[in-house]
Amino acid sequence: MTRSFQSRLSDFGEVEEETPKPIASPKPFVKKPKPERKLWKKTTSKDEEWGVIHLDDTVLFVQLIDGRMHAHGMEAVCKWCGGVLEVREETKLFCGGKCGRYQGEFSRDLNDYFRWEGVKSYTLRKIVAEVEALKLEARDLEPISYAPHWSILYEYEDDPENEDLTKE
Ligand SMILES: [Zn+2]
Repeated sequence: MTRSFQSRLSDFGEVEEETPKPIASPKPFVKKPKPERKLWKKTTSKDEEWGVIHLDDTVLFVQLIDGRMHAHGMEAVCKWCGGVLEVREETKLFCGGKCGRYQGEFSRDLNDYFRWEGVKSYTLRKIVAEVEALKLEARDLEPISYAPHWSILYEYEDDPENEDLTKE
């Protein structure tokens, strides 16, 4: 039974070869470029001085310009008094203004962006690591027990961090 079925299939193959269908019409899909959804825009640069800050619930890449921290083109300042932020003892971020309050952590190791969960979605972490040329954490490199669905990305759609993804 099986054998006769197989020989029939090969017969079909021969017929196809004798009368090729005109499938090679000029590529109709070239005109439609795939809509590119950029999930992460390159932020840091090796030619500049960058760090990571970890405030209460916010993790941001910051560019240091004359020792002052800038995120998204704006200077990051004390949320209480608007004072300039200061790094003390390499890793502690304080207000250098009126109130002098502790603000959070600072690191010059950009990989800390992942340690502090600047992005939580596995998919996005991978993308950010690639774009910013960073190292993912060991836990990200371990095989995951389930296949992530696209919905995982959308879970973070409301995350304020996502606003930055499309921002210039
Ligand atoms: Zn302050």
